Amino acid sequence: MNLIFLSIKQDHLKELEAISKESLPNESCAILLGEINHKNQHTVKKIIKMESSVQTSDYFEINPINLLDVYMKSKDMNLDVIGIFHSHPSMAFPSKTDLLYMEINPVIWLIYSTTELIFRAFLLDEERKINKVTINEVKE
Ligand SMILES: [Zn+2]
Repeated sequence: MNLIFLSIKQDHLKELEAISKESLPNESCAILLGEINHKNQHTVKKIIKMESSVQTSDYFEINPINLLDVYMKSKDMNLDVIGIFHSHPSMAFPSKTDLLYMEINPVIWLIYSTTELIFRAFLLDEERKINKVTINEVKE
């Protein structure tokens, strides 16, 4: 297992917590823009809140046109889409649906549990194995 790190500012985590609580009882989602260094060091620079096109507590869906728009914007800002965030009104582990989408979107998946009140992050590798990502909370 390779060690993978996600550095994210405390303020960004607070923002994601707030988005998650606002969306209850449904799931919320956001895109994480930033940089990847040495393949395993991911740093979040910007968060873009997304509207889920479904309102349910089981899964979320991002409209592909909106996602494409984020990709274009990230290019303008010289940043990459390094992660996808969403909240769970249950434990912060990927669901079966999440695992399918993790294969299509092989970026870090950051999940916040509104019941456990914690973040966990995961990345699927080429062999479809789930790697746990270490979250580095950056204080300013
Ligand atoms: Zn999920």
